[in-house]
Amino acid sequence: MGRLRIKRIGVMGGTFDPIHNGHLVTAEEAWKQFQLDQVLFVPSGSPPHKEDRKSLDAEDRYLMTVIATATNPHFRVSRLEIVRPGPSYTIDTVRELHRIYGKNTEVFFITGADAILEILTWKEPEAVLREATFIAATRPGYDLKRLEESLPEAEKERHASDPRVLVMEIPALAISSTDIRQRVKQGRPITYLVPEGVSEFIEKNGFYR
Ligand code: NAP
Repeated sequence: MGRLRIKRIGVMGGTFDPIHNGHLVTAEEAWKQFQLDQVLFVPSGSPPHKEDRKSLDAEDRYLMTVIATATNPHFRVSRLEIVRPGPSYTIDTVRELHRIYGKNTEVFFITGADAILEILTWKEPEAVLREATFIAATRPGYDLKRLEESLPEAEKERHASDPRVLVMEIPALAISSTDIRQRVKQGRPITYLVPEGVSEFIEKNGFYR
């Protein structure tokens, strides 16, 4: 009898307002580099840390994520956070995914480095790091010092042998959701920055104008 293989699930957490090609390149790169079986995109419901700007409705951000990932056989999208009431805390999501996927699953939570910094300084960083390995996607030239300093002591000690926070530099992350929203507002093109279906969906619904 063969050994039971551990399933490696990438979880791509983000507001995706809107999803863009930088996110898709990030997910594909993580899938390849970390030999993931699948990448599950999880658009956040109500982001816990965002009071300054109102995001687009969660249902619309979810639909854009489905459109953007539809043709990739190892990408999936989850409604988990958008149907859960209250703020979307990563620890709750990761715990729920462990319940859904079962014991033989390793979770790799992929998101922007600044968001990982927030997750790890929010509460119980040790518990969060027990539940998932974090993959911090950065733009080239990102100063990693803040992230390194925020790691809990135990992670710093174990880091060389069993790192739980990994970094991936993604040049395509020069694209940002903020820039895309501004471009739409100013009537500038977003062609080649987001998948075609996403730009048509934005146009059709008059988002970000
Ligand atoms: P954010 O603060 O809007 O984004 C921080 C930076 O990371 C931005 O430059 C953003 O670029 C980039 N980014 C966001 N998601 C990314 C992804 N999946 N891949 C690559 N870059 C990404 O972050 P957010 O989108 O609201 O939150 C990211 C994730 O962290 C969500 O799942 C959120 O629920 C979670 N989070 C949890 C807590 C907590 O549990 N306490 C706190 C903060 C965040 P773009 O704007 O271009 O995406």
